[in-house]
Amino acid sequence: MVKSEYEGYSAGQQSIPLRENFGTAQLYAQNAQSVLNKATGFISAYDFTLNPYRGCQYGCSYCYAAAFSPNSEMRQDWGNWVIIKKNAAEILKKELQSWYKKNPDSSPSIYMSSVTDPYQPIETKEQLTRHLLEVMLPYQPTLVIQTRSPMITRDVDILQQFQRLRVNMSIPTGSEKVRKDFEPKSPSIPARLQAITKLRYSFPYRENCEVRFSITVTPLLPTLPEDEANFISKLEVVDRVVIQDFHASNARSLIASTREEALALKQKYAWWYNSEQQSYRKFKNKLIAMLPGVEIMEGKEGFGYE
Ligand code: SF4
Repeated sequence: MVKSEYEGYSAGQQSIPLRENFGTAQLYAQNAQSVLNKATGFISAYDFTLNPYRGCQYGCSYCYAAAFSPNSEMRQDWGNWVIIKKNAAEILKKELQSWYKKNPDSSPSIYMSSVTDPYQPIETKEQLTRHLLEVMLPYQPTLVIQTRSPMITRDVDILQQFQRLRVNMSIPTGSEKVRKDFEPKSPSIPARLQAITKLRYSFPYRENCEVRFSITVTPLLPTLPEDEANFISKLEVVDRVVIQDFHASNARSLIASTREEALALKQKYAWWYNSEQQSYRKFKNKLIAMLPGVEIMEGKEGFGYE
């Protein structure tokens, strides 16, 4: 039965409440009008963003994507709801066909995903991201996948067939203690490092294929001094490490901004945040010194495919 609002929240578009939870999240299903959306702002170098879900179960305290929630109540409750774009695979196929009709000699570049994690827990059940990869494969777009989930290794069989692929694994801190404060529902750091290492070595050399791997330490969170050297040394596995400050905070909706929850947590890490610029610079210099074979990039440029 289609309802005119998100059950449990006061306003919104038409949705199907699935009457089930997955972990702590309330699930909804919707048909999307379009799934390839023009990439703007931070990732404007791409043709499109592709978000299989709206909302994200990881609910990271600093997540700027909360600003794009359907209403203010859901923005406040970020991490506790997910909208599944049920028809995403079908729509994607149509949109790719339409692209190639207009641009027969050029493949699009796609960033998956900008406002959700394509491998959040519900993906184990829905397999929507996997279906999208299957749809994209014959079209061979330039594809960048941004995730913090080891679940991406499940799809290595499909990923191996892309010719222009970059996998960005998000690991904003080298300390589990810090992760549990800023993103308590996300996978552990050792699990993420293990996953990106496994992926990195799962791609046999193929001529004319450009497969690349990044670790995005974004937003750069504190790493405890006792964890720092070990963490940095493990980043050697990828060809690029990206660092970046927090997004500026903004109370208005529809503006990417760091959530209050993260701003409050900064107080707990005053030893890092009291001289934030200096902490950032010191960390960056250590990356450069300890990872001579790795590209160290900052901000927008770091998120490009090239
Ligand atoms: S995983 Fe990404 S999209 Fe999801 S809550 Fe965390 S920062 Fe936001």
